[in-house]
Formats: sequence, structure tokens, C-alpha cells
Amino acid sequence: TTTRTPLMAGNWKMHLDHLQATHLVQKLDWTLKDARHDFAAVEVAVLPPFTDLRSVQTLVQGDNLELRYGGQDLSQHDEGAYTGEISGAFLAKLGCTYAIVGHSERRQYHHEDDVLVGAKVRAALRHDLTPILCVGEPLEVRTAQQHVEHVLAQLRTALEGLDADQVSRVVVAYEPVWAIGTGEVATPQDAQEVCAAIRACVGELVGEQVAVGLRVLYGGSVKPGNVAEIMAQEDVDGALVGGASLSVEDFAAICRYR
Ligand code: PEP
Repeated sequence: TTTRTPLMAGNWKMHLDHLQATHLVQKLDWTLKDARHDFAAVEVAVLPPFTDLRSVQTLVQGDNLELRYGGQDLSQHDEGAYTGEISGAFLAKLGCTYAIVGHSERRQYHHEDDVLVGAKVRAALRHDLTPILCVGEPLEVRTAQQHVEHVLAQLRTALEGLDADQVSRVVVAYEPVWAIGTGEVATPQDAQEVCAAIRACVGELVGEQVAVGLRVLYGGSVKPGNVAEIMAQEDVDGALVGGASLSVEDFAAICRYR
């Protein structure tokens, strides 16, 4: 009943150098084409380390692969004296479609707060990148049953001041921190509860039309064996996949969940 195209996005984290990246991307493309994957029906993207992106671009553009790709982070600034940072302008120039923003590992290890995450969302949009905005609660917040409020507060701050057109260019990923890299997966109902709340919140912020078109992903220990029941939920439009995206077989199976 909706026209949202599912997105399967593989977050490689700090794995695979540019040679390994070339190998995996090539094999993933072959595997999916072999299975006659319809890339227009289920979009597939990889999010490699920055140092891999030039090689991935060469391969994707040179061989007309249908995979999309992007960065795992970007700077809130466009240019300047920011040692070690990567501008969204550079990512755009490399043909990136996406940039992850506010991943829980950035929040935890690099102290990124919701205001900075919001600035990064804007930076991505300035360069025509689609931000994959990650939100999600730690275990103690879930245990206290405050997860919906927590996630919506993260979302509201990150999207503050954006107009409907800008929000319509954002992808949101609900990633409960306790389910990331732990093998602990949220139940499909847990995922649905929060993804629906995210959509409703976006509806309140910028209107129903944007909310209906918004892609909301689930992330947290998604595997070939659990992806179908998660994707069966009404408000889940794809997955942000960490560990399982490093295996061609597993990630291809996730992309072909139906
Ligand atoms: C992630 O890093 O975004 C993630 C969901 O990791 P994993 O699939 O390994 O839990």
C-alpha cells in the first residue's frame, strides 16, 4: 500500500581495505545479478571506510554496477582547518549517495551529541547526500521503558528547523544500541513500535505526506534468518546491517529477503 523502496545498507565499520573492498563489491554484484536481483525493487548500498571509496567508485562507475555507496560519517563543515575530517563535498564528488550520521559508535566513542548530529544532517543535505540518520536507545533506557521518548528526542533535535523538502531527503535508521553487534535482535514488534513512532513524529514535524514517504530502517544484528520477519513490519523499510554485510552470501541473502 506504500511506494517506499526498501533499502538494504551495509555498514562495514572499520573493516576491509580498498583491495578487499574491490573484491567484496565485485562478488556482491555478481551474486545479486546471478540471482536476478531487482535493484529498483530493493535498493542495495555499501558504506565502506573512506579510504575505500575511490576504488568503489571506479568499480561501480566503470562496470555500471547497480550498487550504491556512501560514507560512514561526514564533517559538519564543508572545508577548512579540521584535521582528520571528511567534507560532504568530497563524498559527493566520489559519487556517494549516502552518509551515515550519528551512528551509536560515533556517539559513544566520539561524543557526538544530537546537536552535532543535526549539523551533520544539514551538511549531508547541502551536498545532495542522503543522510542515514541513526537513532536508538541504550539498554538502561529500554529497561526503563523510555525508549520511544528517547528516540523521538534524538530525532526532533537532529531534524530541528528542517523544512518538509529537507526531511523528505533523509533516511532514518532505528538502531537500539543493545542490539548492535551483540547478536541480540529486537523483536519485530519492538522494531515496528519505534519505527512507527518515528514516522508519526515526522508527520507531526513536517506533515503526513513526508511521513508516508519516509524510509525508516531497522538496524541491530540483522541476519539472513531474521530479516524477513523484521521486513514484514508495516513501518520497517529496510535494514542497516553491520556484521552480516561483511559476508557476500549473508548480505546478498538479506537483500533477497522476499
Ligand atoms: C550497525 O553497525 O549499524 C549494525 C546494525 O551492526 P550489526 O548488524 O553488526 O548489529
